[in-house]
Amino acid sequence: GCPEPVNVAAMVRESVQIQNQSARNRGRITFRFCLTEDVWVRADPDRLRQVVWNLLLNAAESIEGEGEVRIDLGIEKERIAHIRIADTGCGIPEDSIPSIFDPFYTTKPGGTGLGLSIALRIVDAMGGRLDVDSIPDKGSTFTLRLPRLNPSD
Ligand code: ADP
Ligand code: MG
Repeated sequence: GCPEPVNVAAMVRESVQIQNQSARNRGRITFRFCLTEDVWVRADPDRLRQVVWNLLLNAAESIEGEGEVRIDLGIEKERIAHIRIADTGCGIPEDSIPSIFDPFYTTKPGGTGLGLSIALRIVDAMGGRLDVDSIPDKGSTFTLRLPRLNPSD
């Protein structure tokens, strides 16, 4: 598909709803959605959805038993849209962080190890950034930053 204006809040909300209703997550994971501003970017919606979906899926998969995934959306310095996905999952050891975006790197039985490498490739092509902060046994936060589509653009 072609790049077009995308309402990020609407897209993220839709993906969160699907995760929230999945049999694997229902009653186990609390999704908290915090939106302070209406955020638009120019993107191929299918690709952006794939990025958001992969991050939400990883967040949900990182939680054994009960936990929380918190999604924040906002605008930084007028020009940058951010989407932050924070989980209370297993976290990532510091020395593994450089590997997680590598194709085929996985710690999951049956994992493909492709989700983050594909996400990073899509984000790079959009002129964005994907950063991670993690504390083992506490959780991880992935922050996606994209050039914002200003109302006047
Ligand atoms: P897969 O999910 O198939 O393993 P990904 O590329 O999506 O592949 O993720 C690669 C690896 O990065 C995962 O196997 C896991 O070790 C780590 N990872 C990614 N997201 C998280 C997260 N939210 N919490 C803990 N570990 C994560
Ligand atoms: Mg994955």
